[in-house]
Amino acid sequence: MPRKLFVTTALPYANGAFHIGHIMEYIQADIWVRFQRMQVDEDGLPREVHFVGADDAHGAPIMLKAEAEGVTPEHLIKRISDERPKYLKGFHIEFDNWHSTHSPENTALSQDVFRRLKTAGLIYSKPVEQFYDPVKGMYLADRYLKGECPNCGAKDQYGDACENCSSVYAATALKNPYSTLSGAKPVLKTSDHFFFKLSDPECKAFVRQWLEKPDRLQSQVVNKAKEWLDGEGDKALADWDISRDPPYFGIRVPDIAEEKYLYVWLDAPIGYLASLKNYCAKKGLDFEKTLNECEQIHFIGKDIIYFHTLFWPAMLKFAGAPYKEPDHVYVHGFIGVSGEKMSKSRGTGIDPLRYLELGMNPEWLRYYIAAKLNGAVEDIDFNPDDFVARVNSDLIGKYINIASRAAGFLSKRFGGLLASEIDSESGVKEKLKQLTDDLAASKNEIGELYEAREFGKALRKVMAFADEANLFVDETKPWELAKHHDKERELHEVCTACINLFRVLTIYLKPVLPKLARDVETFLNVPPLSWRDADSLLLNHKIGNYKHLMTRVEEKQLDALFGIESVPQVNAPQRHAEKQQHAAKELSVSDGMISIDDFNKLDLRVAKIVKAEHVEGADKLLKLTLDLGDSTRTVFAGIKSAYDPAKLEGQLAVVVANLAPRKMKFGVSEGMVLAASGEGPGIFLISPGSGAQPGMRIK
Ligand SMILES: [Zn+2]
Repeated sequence: MPRKLFVTTALPYANGAFHIGHIMEYIQADIWVRFQRMQVDEDGLPREVHFVGADDAHGAPIMLKAEAEGVTPEHLIKRISDERPKYLKGFHIEFDNWHSTHSPENTALSQDVFRRLKTAGLIYSKPVEQFYDPVKGMYLADRYLKGECPNCGAKDQYGDACENCSSVYAATALKNPYSTLSGAKPVLKTSDHFFFKLSDPECKAFVRQWLEKPDRLQSQVVNKAKEWLDGEGDKALADWDISRDPPYFGIRVPDIAEEKYLYVWLDAPIGYLASLKNYCAKKGLDFEKTLNECEQIHFIGKDIIYFHTLFWPAMLKFAGAPYKEPDHVYVHGFIGVSGEKMSKSRGTGIDPLRYLELGMNPEWLRYYIAAKLNGAVEDIDFNPDDFVARVNSDLIGKYINIASRAAGFLSKRFGGLLASEIDSESGVKEKLKQLTDDLAASKNEIGELYEAREFGKALRKVMAFADEANLFVDETKPWELAKHHDKERELHEVCTACINLFRVLTIYLKPVLPKLARDVETFLNVPPLSWRDADSLLLNHKIGNYKHLMTRVEEKQLDALFGIESVPQVNAPQRHAEKQQHAAKELSVSDGMISIDDFNKLDLRVAKIVKAEHVEGADKLLKLTLDLGDSTRTVFAGIKSAYDPAKLEGQLAVVVANLAPRKMKFGVSEGMVLAASGEGPGIFLISPGSGAQPGMRIK
């Protein structure tokens, strides 16, 4: 039987656009899936792969965001979902189906799983005492509660942990709690919640056995999951609260009169199955049969290991057939920029849409990310200089170069026809045989690296072959052969050899560079290349005309990407409207005066300097770590001549919070602190009056 695969990526929360972390995960999974699709199994049948995604559309944050915007949650999630294709198409990420957890399929499946788990005796209900916002009329999750830390007394701490002293507590322990939604003092109220009995011995025994199956999970993931599974005392594995009271945007708990909803984290992973079911209906496939026959594989980030390795397999196992536990959960780390961690709230890093709007080639990013990825749970770093080097010297300088060196001679001298055999006396034959044999022999090794998600290693191997192929061209010197009429045959064979080497390299790069591979297939005038085509040579075959396959990346494109040069990110109609507004404004504003609207564009905030450091190699700069209340930022400030870093720590400053991040020699600066200076010496930091708190807006 050919291998059959059902592959998913984590469901993105439908309250915002994709960020680079999502795109990295999709690129990783897409490469793996494309590799699988190129395989033909022993019986000659291609591998069957079903690759699906969906929006995670339920829960309180979406409900509240929609309310704040004055729209229905359905309207909000539709708007977000309408934006998805331009990112996915833009980066050549090819899901077979994209669905939503807010769908009839997911409602039916989630309620079915709930009923089955209840029948299995793994769901019980018990009263839970919780804070309730009497103004808003809703129970408050920890993130909507603040108060004084019961341990150190720090103000404005969230309902689960103190950012000042790091102690962890129950929300009910907070002193003088208030609701962040309405500011009201919450009251304690009791309601019945449903719980999934993860602590059940049979359940734990199953999860342990599931975790321990060899080659199912990465070892780091097994170790982490076992820590949770084997926790003791206050770290003991707890049962899981899987219901919520209204108002809530979600799926109703079935078979009860009272209005209660399934917690979003229960219905979200079931969304994988809902998307598959929706896809099967579109394709005329039997959902249960497909689910049953396929290996079930989830690609996720390291932040959601807990849900995917404890609850998810247990839920599926005890819900029973047709559900079955996942075969693999493949976990990746996060992506950062130049050593800075990526964070949504700070908004630093690469905006994927901006990348596309700047006209940067999506396959540069696919290649770069692939070159950095391995099979372990490791964070990867986007380094702009490294990006330029890998794209320009590896991809273009080594790989593309091979085709361009041979194609011209073939079309001009041989009408585009490849030689029918390679057997000249000159040694071309031996060299080529050696190279093609090595390349073909690496087919399995490179394939195994792709299978194990060791993309970085696979690409290094491919580039080492590209080096050898270039060496072959350097040694056989087609440009010299072209000068001698008696070397015609040798020239033909050398160029044919180059095209064949290029063709096999293209096969090995195709999962990463799907668009480029299509262009190469057109150039070579061949049907879509599959993995096993690496075994054969292309001879006595007419190829097309060589067209430029890929341009080099330019430094200034990266500057634009990181906001060093401003590029409008709005769509055309908006841009038009802004232009008109701008024209109108110019009439009323002159002589260097600005309007209040112009001033209001500045987001000035109070910031606390939590850390100030010298920057090695910088004459004027200090590196400041700023607390802006709800986020932390790194800013490089030219105040070294005036301030001793040690004395700055703890001081308040004023920061321009919406200044586009700047890529500097020493790192990315995420804002600017304000300081005064005159003709004479001295730089003076602007500081707000005492009592001001980090994060306050300055108007
Ligand atoms: Zn504290």
